Amino acid sequence: MILDRFRLDGKVAVVTGANTGLGQGMCVALAEAGALVAGVARRSCAETAAKIPEGQFFEILADLGKTESAAYVMEEVLKQFGKIDILVNNAGIIRRADVVDFTEQDWDDVMNLNLKMLFLLSQAAAKQFIKQNSGGKIINIASMLSFQGGIRVPSYTASKSGVRGLTMEMANELAPHGINVNAIAPGYMVTNNTELLRNDEKRSSEILARIPAGRWGTPEDIGGACVFLASAAADYVNGYTLAVDGGWLGR
Ligand code: NAP
Repeated sequence: MILDRFRLDGKVAVVTGANTGLGQGMCVALAEAGALVAGVARRSCAETAAKIPEGQFFEILADLGKTESAAYVMEEVLKQFGKIDILVNNAGIIRRADVVDFTEQDWDDVMNLNLKMLFLLSQAAAKQFIKQNSGGKIINIASMLSFQGGIRVPSYTASKSGVRGLTMEMANELAPHGINVNAIAPGYMVTNNTELLRNDEKRSSEILARIPAGRWGTPEDIGGACVFLASAAADYVNGYTLAVDGGWLGR
């Protein structure tokens, strides 16, 4: 039955940036679909854990700004669950400054987390999926700036455009192993990531006026796309970046 293909009972899902925002929304959605969820964060995920039935959520503390964390996260997941089925690369940061003032630090910090760590974790998960001979799902969190240029966010745009390209590249290589690599491009969502933007009255009202759905998105809005791409219902979906944007891109 079709709805059964969306269920994730017995699956182990790893979500980075699980303590808040979209990561928290996806942890809750994956758990509601039946998955065991390992939430990776650099600080407590107590708020996320409180939204999920006891025994279905486990926290892994790691600073994903450090490359050695990729191996550590995979070790912890395997220690806890013995396998992995789904990886959601959600953790991401943004730095805002004019191109002419942009610092090398703001370039490196954003690229290292948003793109390099996403690759290292995907690589570690793919190796494990192949070892398990189980197939698997990798879901990367992209952005409207995987499609558009944006303004005052050069490293963010570079990283998120890279996420979309890398999603296609990895999908091509990994599809023969039964591994689906896809991405979700959220529109303008109410999280810490957009706090500065929402506090800027002019930018905030300009953005709202351009969203056909007439509202900012929420962490709950991304759950359906995440569960779909994590499930057997998406077994023949490869390398695609799905916008969840209230119509922003089509306008
Ligand atoms: P958020 O609330 O700022 O969440 C970002 C998450 O990444 C937080 O859990 C954050 O942890 C974590 N993180 C940052 N640096 C980390 C590090 N070094 N190690 C481990 N975790 C780290 O913003 P969000 O909107 O939910 O962002 C989630 C993803 O969606 C990001 O990739 C973002 O680029 C993307 N996105 C968001 C929007 C939007 O409108 N909100 C639109 C498009 C794409 P801390 O809480 O400790 O900082």
